[in-house]
Amino acid sequence: MFEKLKNEIEKCRDCEEKFGFEPHPIFWGKQNSKIVQISQAPSNNVHHSLKPFTDMSGKTLKYEWYQITDEEFYNQDNFYIGALAHCYPGKDKKGNDRNPPKCCFTKWVEQELKMIDNQLYIIIGAKAAKTFFPEKDYEELIFRNQTWNHKMAIVLPHPSPLNKKWLKDHPDFMNKRIIEVRKIIKEIIKD
Ligand code: SF4
Repeated sequence: MFEKLKNEIEKCRDCEEKFGFEPHPIFWGKQNSKIVQISQAPSNNVHHSLKPFTDMSGKTLKYEWYQITDEEFYNQDNFYIGALAHCYPGKDKKGNDRNPPKCCFTKWVEQELKMIDNQLYIIIGAKAAKTFFPEKDYEELIFRNQTWNHKMAIVLPHPSPLNKKWLKDHPDFMNKRIIEVRKIIKEIIKD
């Protein structure tokens, strides 16, 4: 069932007309990955590399925040690397990445989340946080462990270089919170 779903996602081109180019669905993970990580959408770099977080955000997330190797991060026993949408959505008129198409979450991601037998969710960025915890304050979410689908959930700010101001304004994130998060991740992936 899960392999069938994965193959269908990889073939999906539903947003081609909306994007104005051929979508490249990125799929990374297994049904029993220990940690499900959900961010906003792949970047332009990832659209070409076809491997998630092979960009500046990825460097910050993997090496500075999690402090794990590529072998650990891309080991599909450890991480299921998903997003609100599987494809890079292109740029808007101002040159910013467009919002992830909502149809992807309802058509694919909700099904994936129901089928994966994980231990922990990591939700990255304000848009993903709003999707999973629509009633809660973003900053409160980041500084406390949460629960989603009866499992532990951690909310992180986006590691994008565009988010430097938020990190500067919230020094407790790098000084305290990310150290707690790192310990939880290392404990889960050590087996
Ligand atoms: S973003 Fe999702 S729905 Fe749109 S083409 Fe990619 S896989 Fe299909």
